[in-house]
Amino acid sequence: MESSTFILFGATGDLAKRKIFPALYNLFIDGKLSGPLSVIGLGRREWSNATFQSQVLDSLRTFSRRAPEDSPELRRFLLAFEYSVLDVGHPEDYKKLLAHVIRREQELGLPQNRMFYLSVGPEFFAPIAANIQGSGLGDTLGWKRLIIEKPFGRDLQSARELNDSLGAAFREEEIFRIDHFLGKPMVQNLEVLKTSNPVLRALWQNRYIANVQITAAETVGVEERAGYYDQSGALRDMFQNHMLQLLMMMAMQLPQGSTPEEVRRKKRHVIASVLPLLREELARHVVRGQYAAGEIKGKPVPGYTSEPGIPAASQNETYIAARLFIDDPLWEGVPFYIRTGKRLKEKSTRIVIEFKEPLNDVHNKNRTVLEPNLLVINIGPEEGLSLQLNTKDPRRHGALEPVSIRHDSGNPGMPEAYENLIGDALRGDATFFAHWDEVELSWQWVQPIIDAVDAGELPLHDYAAGSHGPAAADALLGEAHWWLDEEPAPPAAAKDPEAIRQGA
Ligand code: NAD
Repeated sequence: MESSTFILFGATGDLAKRKIFPALYNLFIDGKLSGPLSVIGLGRREWSNATFQSQVLDSLRTFSRRAPEDSPELRRFLLAFEYSVLDVGHPEDYKKLLAHVIRREQELGLPQNRMFYLSVGPEFFAPIAANIQGSGLGDTLGWKRLIIEKPFGRDLQSARELNDSLGAAFREEEIFRIDHFLGKPMVQNLEVLKTSNPVLRALWQNRYIANVQITAAETVGVEERAGYYDQSGALRDMFQNHMLQLLMMMAMQLPQGSTPEEVRRKKRHVIASVLPLLREELARHVVRGQYAAGEIKGKPVPGYTSEPGIPAASQNETYIAARLFIDDPLWEGVPFYIRTGKRLKEKSTRIVIEFKEPLNDVHNKNRTVLEPNLLVINIGPEEGLSLQLNTKDPRRHGALEPVSIRHDSGNPGMPEAYENLIGDALRGDATFFAHWDEVELSWQWVQPIIDAVDAGELPLHDYAAGSHGPAAADALLGEAHWWLDEEPAPPAAAKDPEAIRQGA
């Protein structure tokens, strides 16, 4: 990796504090940053370098997975951070920034490699890109790169407009769009799992797979983000980006040791092959929901429209589920069920692959219906794998029982998504980023849903906070069902008194 200057717009903001500073710190102490580190933080507040450095230290103390220890190394890390006042709309501030960047490059003997990280609202992306271009900041002798975060537009047209404005200053290979789900270790592991295990490689196709279920369930409600969320909803906030990216990662087929270019091509193939939904059939394939009052972990919580900042008549969805098919010989006939929502029973991001059991289809009255084999890929909050198989239980006259073989990766010591992603972007490796084709094709697939919602054609189903979502989402699966939804705990009174005494 060549050393570079890390230029951070929005350095006084929440994302910088919670994710970016800790990620840089952990990369630094792991020796994954080459050459002298140079970070220039930007914001409108009049901060000195010392104030900025103490904010960085506070962020590490609160959010870093490894606590900062007082050491010469930590001091070296903090001294790498300098601050410049910049208002994104003031072109003269970019000239001052350019002078600052050049001064630091000369002081530290850094090549003119510049990483621009826009940790600011998306309305600022286009003016910042234009000013980087106009001020000369982008005229480097080395490389320049841009990191941006979702949202990349709010529909197909606005996404295209945004991309065009970025394209005036940066080439596609220079743009690194963060989808932090792609930074999660288990998502990064998916391809290796498929390519390095002949057993899975052989089974990864419609001949053996009955259906695939991708879930990202949250227990939290809108929290403090009412203004943003009510304009965005589960479709734009989660589905168009994270969920469709998980689908691409799950369904693409790559040879071992593929290049970032191949990954991009294969992901593009998957999303381009998802069968488009016809407007008149949408309601049979897509379920929208909004949480009503209920209970989360035994505590009452209000419904969505009673949350502070949410209009009482809001028709915004806090849950969405969809059934998708991929038009590819390998996946023909395999439904992909995708769902995400807030205020659900448990926090879990996972992919469940249900394998076919041809014997269950044979009409034989004497045969027991077998539980299917399930491969479960747990992406968060715990990471790991499990495989459900059938065995016989000698204590129950040889009756069949499903058992689960588990591997828990264990979170301690695992790099965080932002560490992986920032490290990759600094190395110029675009494998785990959202490329423009994917973003555009995802919006294209989602656009008929947006249109139908705007036209009031898609019903909004209620679900109680703390449930698994609206009943209509179960109906999407026909005879199948969502696997692994945690059942509600039995009421205490129903427990065996002896078991309670023994602490069971
Ligand atoms: P934030 O509001 O906490 O911070 C925004 C930053 O932009 C601040 O540093 C602010 O000073 C700066 N800013 C605003 N107006 C400016 C101006 N005119 N000139 C210069 N600077 C200006 O927001 P955040 O939560 O840090 O989010 C930043 C971006 O990352 C947003 O696009 C958000 O959607 C995205 N994002 C954030 C999170 C998160 O966890 N916070 C997660 C995913 C994506």
